[in-house]
Amino acid sequence: MNKIFSIFGNPVAHSRSPLMHNSVFKNLNYKACYTRTLLQNGAKLKETFFSLGLSGANVTVPHKESAYAACDEVRGFAKKIGVVNTLINENGKLIGYNTDADGFMYAINEFQNIQNILVLGAGGTAKALVQKFLEEGLHVSILNRSKARLTYFEKLDCECYTWDNFQPSQYDLVINTTSAGLKDENLPAPKEIIEIALQNTRYVADAIYGRTTPFLQLAKEKGLTCKDGADMLLGQGVLANELFCNFELDKEAIKKEMQKSFFY
Ligand code: NDP
Repeated sequence: MNKIFSIFGNPVAHSRSPLMHNSVFKNLNYKACYTRTLLQNGAKLKETFFSLGLSGANVTVPHKESAYAACDEVRGFAKKIGVVNTLINENGKLIGYNTDADGFMYAINEFQNIQNILVLGAGGTAKALVQKFLEEGLHVSILNRSKARLTYFEKLDCECYTWDNFQPSQYDLVINTTSAGLKDENLPAPKEIIEIALQNTRYVADAIYGRTTPFLQLAKEKGLTCKDGADMLLGQGVLANELFCNFELDKEAIKKEMQKSFFY
């Protein structure tokens, strides 16, 4: 019987994951298909996963922390951050992984000499990226709309700011990990704050893909070197697909098929 995979999110209609993974399954003759599941309530993730008979799944905004809580076992990097974006059904047990951080590191490979980073947002994606940056010895500041989620980062020795007390510094890279601009025209912070951050950086990245967010648009207008979330999506997708197919497919072939799917 064909294996079934899905992506859980809200919203989820924008997700390119079904295209990417189905392109791999179809063209590399792996008997599986990949669907999307709009999930309102993260607490229902586990029962929905098993009721759909899934072999694995990806998890996107806003359910990555609920996915961590739903797992019977969490492995690798995901354990350090409490955030899961990839689920595997291993003999009826839900096993969780995180491939976002390595996906992002792949995406910014071409950015030179990154030492000082400003992360906009303090959700699941920020947790993954910040943990990775700190492990790489980089200096990290966080700017978030509300204070509550900053407590986690204060314990990691990051410089943490809300919009009210932001103290800019000189950055090499500013990244938007908020969902502002995903389905609206919002900036991740008030425009005057974003302007200051952009005046003080060499590179800009956005985790959002598939559209130019107002944040990325502003950065482009200032002539900064910019990157949207497409390469991050590709990077995390390749790693997730390896887990889905139990490392039976060639990694370069997976990457090639996923890249092709971007042009469908
Ligand atoms: P979470 O729900 O965990 O976190 C959302 C964050 O965004 C919070 O810090 C929240 O702030 C902030 N936020 C939400 N709306 C606004 C707004 N209008 N203005 C300012 N801040 C806002 O989301 P995730 O971390 O899971 O995902 C974040 C984004 O990253 C999504 O857009 C997702 O699509 C993208 N992403 C892309 C990937 C890729 O492969 N390219 C991979 C992973 C994520 P507060 O604490 O105040 O609520």
